[in-house]
Amino acid sequence: MAGGLKDDDTEEFKGLRIASLDDESDEEEEQNEQDIVIDEDDEEEEDEEARKSVVLGFVKMPKTARSLLRHFFPSKAGGVPAWLDPENLPSGRSCFCDICDEPLQFVLQVYAPEEKQSAFHRTLFVFMCTSMVCLRRDQHEQWKCHQDKPSRSVKVFRCQLPRDNPFYSSEPPKKDSTDPPLKAGAALCNWCGSWKGIKRCTGCRRALYCSEKHWVKHSRTGHEHDCQRLRISSQLADSSSDETTPAVLLKVASNNVWPEYKIIQESESSYETDMPDDNVCTNSLVSSNRTDDALMSIAENFEGDDDRKSWASFHERIALAPEQVLRYCRIPGAKPLWPVSSGRPSKADIPKCSYCAGPLCFEFQIMPQLLFYFNVKNDVDSLDWATIAVYTCEASCDASVAYKEEFAWVQLS
Ligand SMILES: [Zn+2]
Ligand SMILES: [Zn+2]
Ligand SMILES: [Zn+2]
Ligand SMILES: [Zn+2]
Repeated sequence: MAGGLKDDDTEEFKGLRIASLDDESDEEEEQNEQDIVIDEDDEEEEDEEARKSVVLGFVKMPKTARSLLRHFFPSKAGGVPAWLDPENLPSGRSCFCDICDEPLQFVLQVYAPEEKQSAFHRTLFVFMCTSMVCLRRDQHEQWKCHQDKPSRSVKVFRCQLPRDNPFYSSEPPKKDSTDPPLKAGAALCNWCGSWKGIKRCTGCRRALYCSEKHWVKHSRTGHEHDCQRLRISSQLADSSSDETTPAVLLKVASNNVWPEYKIIQESESSYETDMPDDNVCTNSLVSSNRTDDALMSIAENFEGDDDRKSWASFHERIALAPEQVLRYCRIPGAKPLWPVSSGRPSKADIPKCSYCAGPLCFEFQIMPQLLFYFNVKNDVDSLDWATIAVYTCEASCDASVAYKEEFAWVQLS
């Protein structure tokens, strides 16, 4: 991870690149053997090494909305995805909740390039259904990951590109550059701004939607007026004007997308020393009391002593930086920090990579604090989770599809 990545003005490609792992391949093998023999001891041991390598993510209002555009390779939460490969977007069932069929909502993306040439750029995208009913169902489905088709309401995609690629310059973007991306991407849904627009409004023949559902939503909430105007303007204009997209179609119409933030990162170890607090993100949007409440609500549903113990160590660790929304650690053998001990996956519960059949390993987890920044209410039926752990192909394999589906494990509170 090259230096102070919190800095907005870095001109290098920035990402959650973890220090070279070259020396660690031997250790990795040993670690794996230990895992099989004594799983509990391993947890303690892994802790020391992993502890130093955890990178925390915090949300922050972007200085300019531009900095979140795809050619700046952002890590961001809320709003719409900044697709890395802007053309070959996920399609078909991948874009929908398998349980209720609604298009999934964008949660966050993490720019995490690797040493590997084909992953010079590498971004992970997380989407989920906003229905808590679906997330509860998803809970049961994730245990069935070895079956052919578990029905999931949380999906993760990995996209990677080599330095030389058709979409971006091989040089890092200038911080105040106003250049647009080299190439326009696929046209997106006018309602959610997230998924590819594959259905055309039958009225104006201009607005595009990812699904019938989003067309219906837009028709009911404001498109009708624009639709009529667009129809008239296309009738008046000759066909060549089709190439410029009217401004009204460039906006995301849905007001249900979550508020948009930049994700900035800090090494967790920087919080462990007794440093003054000015290192903590200064423009935080909620008081630590509020984020603390989010965590305390997890504690209400404990099932036993193990949970209480697990919770205590979880809370102690989180208390170092209570506003964290993300914990990232991609060293071999890294594990999520589980809030409660029940509902954790065993090794056997994590499937193999569906593209190369190699192992998946833990890469990052999303904390419930994010829900506060997303203004999600704390009602019984509101979306809530204790943590979402994301597992990705250890080899970051290259497969034919641009967006490879990875695996998320959701632990509910
Ligand atoms: Zn759903
Ligand atoms: Zn849509
Ligand atoms: Zn229309
Ligand atoms: Zn793979």
